[in-house]
Amino acid sequence: MSRFFHLFFMPIVKNPKDLLMDAYNGGYALGAFNVNNMEITQAIMMAHSAQKAPVVLQLSSGARKYANTKMLVDIIHSIAEQYPEVPIIIHQDHGADFETCKSAIEAGFNSVMIDASHESFAENVRITKEVVTYAHAHGVIVEAELGKLGGIEEHVSVSEKEARLTDPDEAIQFVQQTGCDTLACAIGTSHGAYKFSSDGKVDVARVIKLTEVLPGLPLVMHGSSSVPQEYVTMCNQYGGDLKGARGVEESTISEAVKYGISKVNIDTDLRIVMTAIIRKVFFENPKEFDPRKYLGPARDEIQKMVEHKITVLGSAGKIRK
Ligand SMILES: [Zn+2]
Repeated sequence: MSRFFHLFFMPIVKNPKDLLMDAYNGGYALGAFNVNNMEITQAIMMAHSAQKAPVVLQLSSGARKYANTKMLVDIIHSIAEQYPEVPIIIHQDHGADFETCKSAIEAGFNSVMIDASHESFAENVRITKEVVTYAHAHGVIVEAELGKLGGIEEHVSVSEKEARLTDPDEAIQFVQQTGCDTLACAIGTSHGAYKFSSDGKVDVARVIKLTEVLPGLPLVMHGSSSVPQEYVTMCNQYGGDLKGARGVEESTISEAVKYGISKVNIDTDLRIVMTAIIRKVFFENPKEFDPRKYLGPARDEIQKMVEHKITVLGSAGKIRK
């Protein structure tokens, strides 16, 4: 396939903001799923093709290091050729600094997150603004974060006590001063599989308030895995130890999506499903050693779970004609 074809016909969308505004205006959210390898990426794309939904494929810095950035981007491009009807945003998840975002843009991402939420307000504004200027000059959109999410994310651990929800007044100032395209806000969810800090519910009232003061700005929900208990049980039944793993209630995610949450990040659920199925295969077939025989069923199950998420987020059938 020619280079020309890649440049002009790949479904990696040229105007990622349009996809988010469609979601915002349509009262649904794009699922933003973390990709780490071929099988996970295939499963996500198969699900979105089956459900006719646009998708955000996001790469954390850890994933880029683990698999190599170009490798993952090439996998995405290759799979995109198989599902040309599915519009794709390639997104840097939790970019820690300007350099991380710049290298993502150079690698072909059309969306980056700069997460300077651990810095002071003024410093967060300064760093975010720098990334916005660079990204916008390259046709790339920027997600920023204000407030602190509880739980564990790569390289960042915020204790429950320090977790701080996004303040609407600060958010107005922040968005005005930075020009960010979307805002990740702390609304009661937390990263990881052990969301003890919250009651499992999204602070929908805060979402409504944020949307009121920032009309037209798509909001992003992190730490949105629901940690499906059927898969936690499966993990534990087949030799795992994930007792007490708990996530966000899907009904409250659906509710928040109606009020301006336009991108919902999901990573933990992919990991749990994959691990549960692989454990099951090994438990039932101790003699098995063909990776295709355990990665294949894991891929099938991830697709099933992602299709379910698409219905929770309301993005099914939302590919623009
Ligand atoms: Zn996150």
